[in-house]
Amino acid sequence: MDYKHLAELLLPHIHTTPEEIEARYPKRELPEGAKVTRMGPSPTGFMHLGNLYGALVDERLAHQSGGVFYLRIEDTDKKREVEGGVQTIIEAFSSFCLPFDEGATLEGDNGAYGPYRQSQRAEIYQTFVKSLIERGMAYPCFCTEEELAAAHAEQEKNKENFGYYGKYAVWRDRPMEDIEAELKKGTPYVVRFRSEGSIENKIRHEDLVKGKMEVTENDQDVVILKSDGIPTYHFAHVVDDHLMGTTVVVRGEEWLATLPVHLQLFRAMGWKAPKYAHTAQLMKLDPETGGKRKLSKRKDPELALTFYEQQGYPVPAVLEYLMTLLNSNFEEWRRANPDLPMNDFPFSTKKMSGSGALFDIEKLHDVSKNVISRMSADTVYDYIAAWSEQNDKPFHDLLTRDPAFSKAYLAIGRGGKKPRKDLALWSDAKGYMDFMFDELFQPDYTMPERVSAEDAKAILADFAGVFCETDTPDEFFEKMKQIADKHGYASDTKAYKANPEQYKGAVGDVSMVVRVAVAGRQNAPDLQTVMGILGRDKVLERLDRCAKAL
Ligand code: GLU
Repeated sequence: MDYKHLAELLLPHIHTTPEEIEARYPKRELPEGAKVTRMGPSPTGFMHLGNLYGALVDERLAHQSGGVFYLRIEDTDKKREVEGGVQTIIEAFSSFCLPFDEGATLEGDNGAYGPYRQSQRAEIYQTFVKSLIERGMAYPCFCTEEELAAAHAEQEKNKENFGYYGKYAVWRDRPMEDIEAELKKGTPYVVRFRSEGSIENKIRHEDLVKGKMEVTENDQDVVILKSDGIPTYHFAHVVDDHLMGTTVVVRGEEWLATLPVHLQLFRAMGWKAPKYAHTAQLMKLDPETGGKRKLSKRKDPELALTFYEQQGYPVPAVLEYLMTLLNSNFEEWRRANPDLPMNDFPFSTKKMSGSGALFDIEKLHDVSKNVISRMSADTVYDYIAAWSEQNDKPFHDLLTRDPAFSKAYLAIGRGGKKPRKDLALWSDAKGYMDFMFDELFQPDYTMPERVSAEDAKAILADFAGVFCETDTPDEFFEKMKQIADKHGYASDTKAYKANPEQYKGAVGDVSMVVRVAVAGRQNAPDLQTVMGILGRDKVLERLDRCAKAL
């Protein structure tokens, strides 16, 4: 068979050589040990938590080693592509603050190893396919869908392996006349790789996540170029990751099944395969059955990345939570280093679990509370302002009306060893601070059980007489004690506990009356600080309003 002639017949428009293409992609000049990683999402319009989970691994591996993290759009499957899909991808990663060093951007390409959209790389793939055909390592296959389905049915009947191999590889050794006849008729065809592998053979593979394993060699003549001249994932992956200098491929474990194909293609091309990190599936406990299952697009809104933004999950909290799933020793590190940035943690693929990671939204809330509690009031304010601007404009307007006022409130209980942990989501902010704004103030004047309405009124009146907005919390409490004594409540809680029958209640009941009047509820952060922020007039107005309502 004249393979050169065949290659020319199939791809006459390709005049570039593999050497010319290789010359466009010089070896990257990076420090020893630097890793080059990439995200290769498809523009399906849906970005899920698994994408972010993998991207965090990529980003950490690259940036921890002084390497490169880049974005490649894998848009070879036109059927799955949706309009705006690329924008969705780029915006999702940028909103989660995962900075790409190079790759596809909204404005085009950034970097010297592009194009970074596979749909723009047809000439490159076809050049390598042509060279494989010239060397007798690939061939055209004119099988129709029906013929392939018939082969599948026969394999099923005979209990044989499915696929295009052995006697089922009907175009593998067809004479040139047959090929030329089909081409003349204009029959669509794909190009298949001629596999020399056998399922009797095993290949050793050392995965960065799954560890050492043996996989069965590939004996299928897989499609490398589809009938539209666009490559399959298998071929595009091998060509791109070679040319773009990827050193570690992080991808979902669903790709393990076709790893033998990829290793075989790398070998056939004479290229060094990258290292692979096949990440485990994200699982959850099904609330109905209690069993573990994969996160599902249909059942679990938390699978979509947009969910986190809409609900107001802080980006750093989502990333920290994913890191707890990725590296079993992260939580211990975080406890020992509460104030260090997450990126100081020495991330390692060795600490990744090969089996499914269990996603637990309650745990995410806990992580988030911790993360927010360590932020400054200014940072928290900025985040809440940005979130509410998109999701709750009326609240945003109140919050930002007087930034100093809002920040003073958000500063309560921050810093120190035991910061308050009131917020898990930015959407919790409104409920946490609504009483600070008259427009949102909807008081519930339920008083402590031990305090009669009459006593409450008297306490409020007394307090209005002595209130001073510049008091310290201790000074405020002293005043509470005096009012307590005056009305038959124990100023010393221990004394009350020892002889409860001698008192109507204790000083805590008295200060609760003031809290209920000022905050309109029994739960609020440090009252004296709150009153200092609200200011004298507002506090007196609220004391009065409550007394009238009793
Ligand atoms: N386009 C593939 C996907 O979306 C990427 C897999 C890979 O990273 O190699 O699953």
